[in-house]
Amino acid sequence: MIYVVGIGPGGHETMTHEARSTIQKSDVIVGYKTYIDLIKDLIKEKQVVSNGMKQEIDRVKKAVEISKTGKTVAVISSGDAGVYGMAGLVLEMAEEEKVEIISGVTASTAAAAVLGAPLMHDFCHISLSDLLTPLELIYKRIELASEGDFVICLYNPRSKGRPDYLKNAFEIMRKFKSGSTPVGIVKNAERENQEVHICTIDTIDYELVDMLSIVIVGNGSTYIKNNTIITKRGYENKLKGERNEEI
Ligand code: SAH
Repeated sequence: MIYVVGIGPGGHETMTHEARSTIQKSDVIVGYKTYIDLIKDLIKEKQVVSNGMKQEIDRVKKAVEISKTGKTVAVISSGDAGVYGMAGLVLEMAEEEKVEIISGVTASTAAAAVLGAPLMHDFCHISLSDLLTPLELIYKRIELASEGDFVICLYNPRSKGRPDYLKNAFEIMRKFKSGSTPVGIVKNAERENQEVHICTIDTIDYELVDMLSIVIVGNGSTYIKNNTIITKRGYENKLKGERNEEI
């Protein structure tokens, strides 16, 4: 049996009960070292198989091998395992093994809660990593999502190896989104050393953003109130009506 478990953004308070109990009932924990470290207090007694970044295929091979011996394996992903995580690959590579996916709190909704309520209307996730996706397709999606006035959550927004993709993405967004559109940057959401920056498309400092951050860019109805980001869902007329009734 293989479980693929999303441990949430931080690995503690934001982990679901189901994720915790699944890890507890598993014999072997397989995962990327950084995520294993986030839950080390939970897995003291367990057999742990961890390896580095970009070794996902080896990790899944190992998990499949171990499950064939009759053990229960939990493959760990940060956030939600089905959002740029391990869920798809495990399902693709599994043969006869039973696989179950345990959902988790993904970085976008965790960061949104820290920022206020930026995801109140239609939004999308776009990863700026071109390790597995052609860069032209990434930029095309940025352009079309901006034209469609989606709130955009940028995962893998900026790394040392690709310092300019974020700036390029913002240049594309400017074609359709105003320079005053609110932008939230959350680094280490719900983890130690959490950092929150609220700015706009015009004022963003790209240097604040790294691979431990997520960037949320508003739509045409997003605004900043008391240092929180809110995307209006369209309650204005209802609220007006209520106020009139009260008067
Ligand atoms: N499966 C994960 C995403 C993995 S991709 C999820 O559902 O959240 C890795 C990217 O996710 C990072 O580069 C960053 O953009 C984002 N991310 C993951 N955890 C985060 C956190 N705690 N705070 C901010 N961003 C995070």
